[in-house]
Parts: sequence; C-alpha cells; structure tokens
Amino acid sequence: MEDPDYIKLVKETEICKQCKNIVIGKGNLNADILFVGEAPGRNEDEQGLPFVGAAGKNLDNLLDKVGLSLKEVYVANILKCRPPENRDPLPEEIRAHTPWLIEQIKQIKPKVICSLGNYSTKFFLADGNVEGMKSMPGITQVHGKAKTIEFNGLSIKLIPLFHPAAMIYNRSLMELWEKDMEVVKSEIK
Ligand code: URA
Repeated sequence: MEDPDYIKLVKETEICKQCKNIVIGKGNLNADILFVGEAPGRNEDEQGLPFVGAAGKNLDNLLDKVGLSLKEVYVANILKCRPPENRDPLPEEIRAHTPWLIEQIKQIKPKVICSLGNYSTKFFLADGNVEGMKSMPGITQVHGKAKTIEFNGLSIKLIPLFHPAAMIYNRSLMELWEKDMEVVKSEIK
C-alpha cells in the first residue's frame, strides 16, 4: 500500500535518508496527555523510539515523581528523524515533519499537550505556522502557563514544560517541572 502524504513528506527530507529509523512515538494512544519533544537523538535513532537516551531517563524519572507512566501518556517529537550531529531543526524540516504529528494529535485526541522545550512550544504557540515561530516567547517565559489551542475541532490545553535535557545541566529546573506538572494534572481530573 502506498504511504499517506504525511509519511511521504517525511521520507522526502534529507535527514530521513540519513537516519536509521523513523521515530514515531511511544506510550498509550488513548492517553489524555501528549508530550511533544524536539527531535530524536543518537539513541532514539538507533532504537526507533523517542526519549530513550539521557533526556529520556530524566523524563522517566520526572513522570515517576508525579505518579505517571507510559500507560497514561504518549510521547512524540516535532521531527521524526534525527538531524545530523543533533543540530537544530530547520524550518523546512519542521514544515515537512509536522503534518505527521498533526495526524497523531487527531488520532490521540489528547486533553493536554505538554510541549517540551522551545521548538515544540513555539510550534504550537504559532498555531503550526513555522514562519511565526521566531516571534513566539521562549520556554522560560511561558512554562507552566496553560493556553487553550484549537486543533481540528478539538479544544486542547497546551502546557509548555522545560525540556528534560535541560535538567541534565540545571537540576534546579526539576522543581519547576514538578510544579508545572501540577497544572497538567489539574487539567485531566
Ligand atoms: N530529545 C527530544 O526532544 N526528543 C527525543 O526523542 C530525545 C531527546
């Protein structure tokens, strides 16, 4: 069977030709909470799963601390393939890879999207308009602040969170993360 257009778009990008695996997501497709990170790194590329490296360990620990697991959440990324040397995503890559993310959102119908870090947060704040991302506020300004976004007829609460990789270098962010997760939990009650 032929791939749908959102998969074709990803496969046509240069980073897809260079990666080992397309990293789609993991967790519960019926979850109320969807976490969206930036892009797969080396470990994720090798295993074909998001958040399995150092940042993933942090995410697992953080979820554990707030009493959540992969049974209750789904985890995906803005980009489905690893950018070489973990460089930042390019605008044309975000444009080509996010239609797949949008399909995932339509399927999962989460109550809450937790955008992890700057790229993911700016993508949603800009309503998926890649050109608009540059002028959006950064994660330090908006973390833990819930905002309702309309998505294909779904009303979803966006709650930006610090990226778990940021906590590898700055442990003090963990406290803020846990506090922000209280906002997330109050939305799914
Ligand atoms: N960082 C991300 O943003 N996503 C991953 O899957 C791994 C690390």
